[in-house]
Amino acid sequence: MEQGNRRLIIIISLLLITGFLGISVTSYLVSSSSLRTHITQNELPLTGDNIYSEIQRDLLRPIFIASLMATDTFLRDWVLQGEKGSKKISHYLGEIKTKYNTFSSFFVSDATNRYYYPGGILKTVSEKEERDQWYFRIKNMDSEYEINLDPDMAHKDTMTIFINHRVQDYDGNYIGATGVGLAIHAVKNLINTYQRTYQRSIYFTDSNGRVTLHGKDFPDPRKNIFAVQGMAEHREDILKGAPLSFEYQDNGKTVYVNNRYIPEFGWYLFVEQRGDKEIDKIKNTLITNLCLSFVITALILLATNLTISSYQQRLTRMATIDKLTGIYNRRAFDIIMDQALKDLPREQKPFSLILFDMDHFKKVNDTHGHMAGDCVLQKVVETTANAIRSNDVLCRWGGEEFLVLLKECPLEDALAMAEKVRRAVEADPAVYQEKQIPATISLGVTEQIHQDTRESLLKRVDKALYAAKANGRNRCETTLATRE
Ligand code: GH3
Ligand code: MG
Ligand code: MG
Repeated sequence: MEQGNRRLIIIISLLLITGFLGISVTSYLVSSSSLRTHITQNELPLTGDNIYSEIQRDLLRPIFIASLMATDTFLRDWVLQGEKGSKKISHYLGEIKTKYNTFSSFFVSDATNRYYYPGGILKTVSEKEERDQWYFRIKNMDSEYEINLDPDMAHKDTMTIFINHRVQDYDGNYIGATGVGLAIHAVKNLINTYQRTYQRSIYFTDSNGRVTLHGKDFPDPRKNIFAVQGMAEHREDILKGAPLSFEYQDNGKTVYVNNRYIPEFGWYLFVEQRGDKEIDKIKNTLITNLCLSFVITALILLATNLTISSYQQRLTRMATIDKLTGIYNRRAFDIIMDQALKDLPREQKPFSLILFDMDHFKKVNDTHGHMAGDCVLQKVVETTANAIRSNDVLCRWGGEEFLVLLKECPLEDALAMAEKVRRAVEADPAVYQEKQIPATISLGVTEQIHQDTRESLLKRVDKALYAAKANGRNRCETTLATRE
């Protein structure tokens, strides 16, 4: 029974745990995967699109201004007419700077190599100067403009994003370079504003993966994104330039990336999200669910165990207790007596048995009815139980026969006890429907000896009872083992 219980508990536990685990983990996997898909397929690309259009609005405007300057007839005429009066050009550059709120504005003439700025002539560029190389690069470049990150001499070498535009005369000959500069901190502020608005990291790289611009809290100040394994794996796709979304693992955190090429800059824009609060929430829900599942499993097991053991107790009771009298039945008594025989070597004194049977009980049933007979049996049990000691065992042996096991009780004491029971029964008749029903019993007594088995003992006590009946009933008799 114990083993069966354990097996049942194990099966229930396995079923519950598998069920709970299956449901919790599956729902976690399904919802986190749909959230991931949502982030990479919808959220990040949308943020990327928004930021891209803001960048176009904010950063492409200077390119447009530079292009306007390069085709301005006043500027070109002034150069073609021999650059007379530097005040005019500085006034013009000052106007551009003020009107468009740029950090700086400039023109470098190819004829004189003079660098004009709102304050006048800043210097003369020279091919030998390292910091003037940009100008000679523009002179020979194919595209109309370039974006360059350089210190601005006119502003105490503040890092500046320059838009350098080629200027040509009306016949298409190169006559100089013009453009505007944006202070890098202003651009960074712009990026920080996007970062705050969209709650994502934003940065730019060139086509070698070198980070050219980034906002605050840039995730680890890495110089090159391709130094990161997860990024390097997508290098080919990134360099294709089409809007792209992917995710990779970095230090156990999922990083979601959206990137695209910005042709006007020649840079790649990256919008990045590290980890995800929603997925963390789902993870927490999973942990809570698992804890709850274990608690529920434990409670169900506890309830099952309690129910089973209560049923077991009832079954055991039903199997060992006599229904009419509430005392042990024959089945239970067999076990008790076997145990008493086993315990014998330890016992100081032998035990004794009393077997008694109602006298002329058929007559009781016939005269008063079967129900009255039952009542008499209950009364006899009650009287006997009161007469014997608390550790003696009383059992209904069958019909109207009862057995008493008297522990550590030699024959002499057992006989006295039998006589006590006989008198008590005789003296205390049962009352049924306000009518007294007198009853007597005949008792056989015997003492256990060393070589006794259950059968030999019962045989002897039965013989003694037979003798009591034969000798006139309502009396005690004994059969000594030695006399057998
Ligand atoms: P004796 O003195 O020789 O024992 O006579 P007796 O009438 O008691 O004879 P016996 O022991 O053979 O009869 C037993 C009777 O007890 C027969 C049966 O109807 C009755 N009996 C057995 N069990 C029950 C019971 O649970 N309730 C009732 N009311 N009667 C029972
Ligand atoms: Mg009988
Ligand atoms: Mg009888």
